[in-house]
Amino acid sequence: MSDQEACPKCGAPLSPISETPTGRKLQRCSTGSWNKETRQSEGCDYVKWLQVEPQALDEKCPKCGAALVMQVTRFGKKMKKCSTGGWDAAAKQATGCDFVEWINGSSEPLDITCPQCGDKLVLFTTSSGKKMEKCSTAGWDAQNKAATGCTYVRWLKPGEVPVGNNGEEHLPPQE
Ligand SMILES: [Zn+2]
Ligand SMILES: [Zn+2]
Ligand SMILES: [Zn+2]
Repeated sequence: MSDQEACPKCGAPLSPISETPTGRKLQRCSTGSWNKETRQSEGCDYVKWLQVEPQALDEKCPKCGAALVMQVTRFGKKMKKCSTGGWDAAAKQATGCDFVEWINGSSEPLDITCPQCGDKLVLFTTSSGKKMEKCSTAGWDAQNKAATGCTYVRWLKPGEVPVGNNGEEHLPPQE
């Protein structure tokens, strides 16, 4: 760790690493501070943003076959990208493989009947990894900004697995 790193602007030591609500990490100059009354920063305004390390995934790039990594953007959004992909700052252009897949949450069909309407449920995983069972008829009307279809939702506790409500006899035999 380089906590004692000096500010490139004024030479004062940098403050300890702090984290934003979206998971970004930064270090401010220790002589800088935010004045709530004048709504201006006082002292040195140097801020060093720390790179969030991409996380290696056990998945292959569908374009080139190299390993994929999970990257978190400056705004806390997650994406899978090809580990060979990069950015040439001097030439201002992407290098290597350009495969990127944004993680907006995913859903998979469940063999569970909705207790509200009798239709099938789906397992929805949010971009932050939370899981919920929701009705497959549920939707979102972007024009009217209103939910459509059935409103049944059940959040799963961490580690909980959805269980069918149609009886164990329908499950495949255990090996
Ligand atoms: Zn400084
Ligand atoms: Zn690739
Ligand atoms: Zn339903």
